[in-house]
Amino acid sequence: MAARGGWREKISVRFSGAKLDEPLSRHTTFHIGGPADCYLEIGNSADLRDFAALAAEQDVPVFFLGQGSNLLVLDRGIRGAVVRLRGRFEDMELLAGGRVRAGAGLRVPKLVSFCAQKGLAGLEPLIGVPGTVGGALAMNAGTPQGEIGPAVAEAEIWDLQERRPRALPREDLRFEYRSSSLAGRIILGCVLQLKPGDKVDIMKRIQSYQRKRFQTQPIHTYNVGSVFKNPPGQFVARLVEEAGLKGRAVGGARVSPKHANFIENFSGATARDVLELIDLIRGEVRRIFAIELELEVKVVGEA
Ligand SMILES: Cc1cc2nc3c(=O)[nH]c(=O)nc-3n(C[C@H](O)[C@H](O)[C@H](O)COP(=O)(O)OP(=O)(O)OC[C@H]3O[C@@H](n4cnc5c(N)ncnc54)[C@H](O)[C@@H]3O)c2cc1C
Repeated sequence: MAARGGWREKISVRFSGAKLDEPLSRHTTFHIGGPADCYLEIGNSADLRDFAALAAEQDVPVFFLGQGSNLLVLDRGIRGAVVRLRGRFEDMELLAGGRVRAGAGLRVPKLVSFCAQKGLAGLEPLIGVPGTVGGALAMNAGTPQGEIGPAVAEAEIWDLQERRPRALPREDLRFEYRSSSLAGRIILGCVLQLKPGDKVDIMKRIQSYQRKRFQTQPIHTYNVGSVFKNPPGQFVARLVEEAGLKGRAVGGARVSPKHANFIENFSGATARDVLELIDLIRGEVRRIFAIELELEVKVVGEA
């Protein structure tokens, strides 16, 4: 990487809103995370092109985040630049034939509401996913009632070699349980193929999913949703509860008393607190049930 000062200065000159040593706790739903050397928001393709060229020329590592709703950023933060796509990347547009174009920076609940208003069904299970379209595509976000993957007709990425956007057709994409072949690419957006539906029925489904979430998840706390992936045929929440860990705390982090696959930052938790709690949960579930839990949350940065 180029000398720390040099590239940061160049980015600050070209992108006036760039912030140096920005605490990432301000950009994650956990409200946890050390500083990014440089944090910036990019609002259009021309700026993205300039930024990508500058980052390549200066050999700067770049991490793209969305709403930070599936991230545990470690306490010493992220070296290099952290980028959030905003502005034109938050656009959505109704196309012909039940298709919708959505930018990577758009919030998922806004997209779900837009589709409902247009009488387009398929995304209702995603109403409570508090992330962006980019994050949802990288994670193949969803619930047992449905994921984003099956609705994706085409994805748009930034091609680093060609220095321009590139469309990837459905047949070039893979979506699995909480992962996709788009992870690790620079995701700009997608085109979704939805089904025509009755607006009232769509709204009813949305309301019922919201009600269920409100009853079962600690949505008003600082958290990142499910911490672990459910092993085949098992529910992590039940395993953790049966292991007697509901409410167990390490420092400012605790297993949610409401949903045992959630960890809450209830009092100034550090990433280290969360990692210790994760280790404790994994250890107990391994010891009692001989099951190895896999993380759903992405752990990034330096400890
Ligand atoms: C209360 C709550 C409930 C939740 N419920 C669900 C649920 O029901 N189902 C579910 O699947 N998830 C759920 N989540 C987790 C989370 O919301 C999803 O994983 C979401 O898709 C993450 O989106 P994000 O924009 O916040 O991504 P981030 O957390 O910011 O990033 C996640 C990953 O996506 C990558 N990424 C994001 N944007 C881009 C981009 N433009 N280009 C390249 N890579 C990118 C990041 O690099 C990272 O690897 C929940 C979280 C919370 C807090």
